[in-house]
Amino acid sequence: MNTSSTSDAGVVIAGGGQAGFQVAASLRQLGFAGPVTIIAAEDRLPYQRPPLSKTYIKTDAGFDSLLIRPESFYAKNDIIVRMGQAVASIDRQASMVMLDSGEALSYRHLVLATGAANRALAVEGATLPGVHGLRTAADAEALRAAVGAAQRLVIVGGGFIGLEVAAAVRSLGKDVVLIEAADRLMGRTVSRPVSAFFLDQHRAMGTEIRLQTALAAVVGGARAEGVLLADGTTVAADIVLIAAGVVPEDRLARDAGLATDNGIVVDAYMTTADPRIFAIGDCAVFESPFTDRPVRLESVQNAVDQAKTVAARIVGPGEPYRSVPWFWSDQGPYKLQVVGLTAGADHVELAQLGEADRLIAYCFRADRLLGIETVNRPGEHMLGRRILGQDLTIARAEVARHDFDLKAHVASLSGG
Ligand code: FAD
Repeated sequence: MNTSSTSDAGVVIAGGGQAGFQVAASLRQLGFAGPVTIIAAEDRLPYQRPPLSKTYIKTDAGFDSLLIRPESFYAKNDIIVRMGQAVASIDRQASMVMLDSGEALSYRHLVLATGAANRALAVEGATLPGVHGLRTAADAEALRAAVGAAQRLVIVGGGFIGLEVAAAVRSLGKDVVLIEAADRLMGRTVSRPVSAFFLDQHRAMGTEIRLQTALAAVVGGARAEGVLLADGTTVAADIVLIAAGVVPEDRLARDAGLATDNGIVVDAYMTTADPRIFAIGDCAVFESPFTDRPVRLESVQNAVDQAKTVAARIVGPGEPYRSVPWFWSDQGPYKLQVVGLTAGADHVELAQLGEADRLIAYCFRADRLLGIETVNRPGEHMLGRRILGQDLTIARAEVARHDFDLKAHVASLSGG
């Protein structure tokens, strides 16, 4: 076994995705002078995942278009990226990580930014050629190549990724059938009226959507030829995309004796029970001021802001993580933006303002505004971020008024 140790073991980051990149970049921005090493299991420099399910699968864009920063950034900022290498285990007593190559690396601080992996479905045929998942650039490149030669795609899962791919592939003139086990689309993350809006829009775009429909098996011989549904019917397909959610990559922490509970458990500074080990991004579960139970969020905003929290904590006392959660999803011509965590809403006030392709959904629990969901209304989304970020309020009764104007309301609250 090789052991690399320097006088300052510096910061080792497990995972070269959005969060791993950001913690390295923020450490340098904050003047951290010690070694910074990213161990990146994928054989690629850190890149953005959002385009994978939107533009990347339907154009011939090169991989470089996805890069968060060009290669020169890492040399200029003295950030080492060890691509194609994974952290295999953590030795907390020795303050070392073991790589899959057998090499050991010392750390002063260790940041776990290992993301999440696609949830595998335990059904017959799920591993046949022609069955795809979509998490990495390599997955997107394989799907893009397969879509080019295919006419009919079955998508399993009506969450963001399944729906974004449905819209992208429909725009190429391919046939798409999407099956969803629940009774509505994006049920974990948006309110019922917004689910219903997107159901209508996707059907209008030509995607056949079947709700309350479970997958029983993927059928085929040498490769996937379709799916068998739980009601006994089959649907033919050239390609099957499984987009049934993700599971957090929290094994390293669990094996090292750190708490996990659908993700690596961290405090408000993104610190595990070991003060020298942090977890951020898709793999971390934390108490958010925006909801009353621990959450694990899968968004660029969350990955970036948690990384900044950790970098600040490493160089100084830092600040607890309090960022307003927000995310977006582009589905054909519809830009969905959500601010706040709206899953627990029991009352939704919808403002469509007479425009068929734009809407605002104010989501409340009792009288508390949990968040705002918008479609093609970026201005109101930004106002929503101000409201939740500055602890401003909107009363349910006020929103329900026919002439309620969000912009005027925010101006009056901010005194300007
Ligand atoms: P990741 O970006 O997944 O990076 C984790 C990295 O760690 C991976 O490269 C993984 O290979 C590596 N790794 C895992 N284990 C190890 C190990 N043991 N050693 C070394 N490396 C390891 N969010 C939005 O807000 N808006 C969107 O529109 C949107 N679209 C998306 C579309 C797709 C197709 C996908 C997949 C995600 C999308 N997201 C979107 C979510 C967003 O991309 C993620 O929340 C974000 O990438 C999380 O960053 P992360 O660094 O925590 O994880």
